[in-house]
Amino acid sequence: MTIRASSTKGIEGAPQASLYGSVARQFDKAADLMGLDDSIRNTLSMTSNEIIVHFPVRMDDGHIEMFTGYRVQHNDVLGPYKGGLRYHPQVSIDEVRALATWMTWKGAITDIPFGGAKGGIQFDPANYSQREVERITRRFTFALGNNIGPEYDIPAPDVNTNAQIMAWVLDTYVSTMPPHERQACTHVVTGKPVELGGSLGRDKATGQGVVFNILEWAKDNDFSLNGATYIVQGFGNVGSWTSRLLRRFGAKLLAVEDVTGAIVNPDGIEPGELVSHVAGAGGVRGFDTAEPISREDFLAIKADIFIPAALENQITAETAPRLNVRLVAEGANGPTDPDGDVLLKERDIDLIPDILCNSGGVIVSYYEWLQNKRSEFWELDEVDKKLSRRISSAYAKVREAAASHDTDWRTAAYIVALTRLEKVYNERGLFP
Ligand code: NAD
Repeated sequence: MTIRASSTKGIEGAPQASLYGSVARQFDKAADLMGLDDSIRNTLSMTSNEIIVHFPVRMDDGHIEMFTGYRVQHNDVLGPYKGGLRYHPQVSIDEVRALATWMTWKGAITDIPFGGAKGGIQFDPANYSQREVERITRRFTFALGNNIGPEYDIPAPDVNTNAQIMAWVLDTYVSTMPPHERQACTHVVTGKPVELGGSLGRDKATGQGVVFNILEWAKDNDFSLNGATYIVQGFGNVGSWTSRLLRRFGAKLLAVEDVTGAIVNPDGIEPGELVSHVAGAGGVRGFDTAEPISREDFLAIKADIFIPAALENQITAETAPRLNVRLVAEGANGPTDPDGDVLLKERDIDLIPDILCNSGGVIVSYYEWLQNKRSEFWELDEVDKKLSRRISSAYAKVREAAASHDTDWRTAAYIVALTRLEKVYNERGLFP
């Protein structure tokens, strides 16, 4: 049985234009090419659990507002559900389904014992005070109750969430546990502050993983990063860390776009200085050693590498023809839609697909979870070395699948992930 965005089987209510529709098209292409077992195909084409909660929160002025939150658990055959929490007005069941499904592929591709999940709240935290965001987070965690848990489903940061928000989730979750179980629950979230059991290197992990992937690509293509140019969309956790870490190899950041606008400096933008500016100004707009440009001009800048690190559906049939780069390294989840993929391939632009490129975050989340379970604390160089080895190994598997199936890298990445899942299903069989 095939999973099709337009069918009623598997992808219920997902129109072709939806994000989950994109997942379906990517999945179908890989499953057809590798000849994925039909029953496993059916199983993976549906999410396991979809939790939608509506919950009240008291605002600073005393009035009560209702919020809608989601947690979608796609698959746990490889281990506990795992995935971030996103706070954004566009969060929807369709988006969270897609993001949860990608998490399953990410765990599979990197050989970590995690399944896939994702969640979020449909609101813009910029419109609320810090105390309100704390109460919204705590009330959402309480509403989820035992639908999350350290050995069951483990949230982490994503768009507009961070270590502080993970600390509130942790504190709320353990406060609802019986006293004798509380100390055993700190691995209910990853991406926590280091003082609360977070891992060194988790903050930069996704960006670090993007850079390790780019280094592998550079090796394969005999390409020197020294003097290479790059442009970055999104300058939050992923975009800013990728920029800072690439700079260390002598690469030059030409332009950045975020929600406040786009800026360019042909002589190069210092990522560290831009981080300080964004911390004060809330976005890249107004950075004094760069000029503002339009979004259209940003996408057309000639550079070696484009790193989308914001939201999904940025590289499409409309925007892909404008790109003027050799490589797209997907820091974000789902930045390229299936039409964009076709055009990138036609234009000979290389792609490191999201489920490989941004997997550093979930890999180091796994290391954080392991450290918590073992009451250990690893040095940063140990975390980085382990991350580097795991990314190199996943990258090599995708390269090999692309060659052996004569296909594009996104499809190859899916094939690597689905091959592992198929093996596990075949070995486990099905209860009863
Ligand atoms: P973040 O909230 O720290 O940063 C998001 C950035 O995107 C901000 O700079 C924001 O201004 C920008 N942005 C938002 N809307 C935009 C728009 N319409 N146009 C241009 N820029 C816009 O989020 P993050 O954690 O860096 O996540 C970014 C992407 O990376 C997301 O797709 C996320 O799912 C993915 N990702 C994050 C992690 C992680 O560890 N944080 C791991 C894997 C993947």
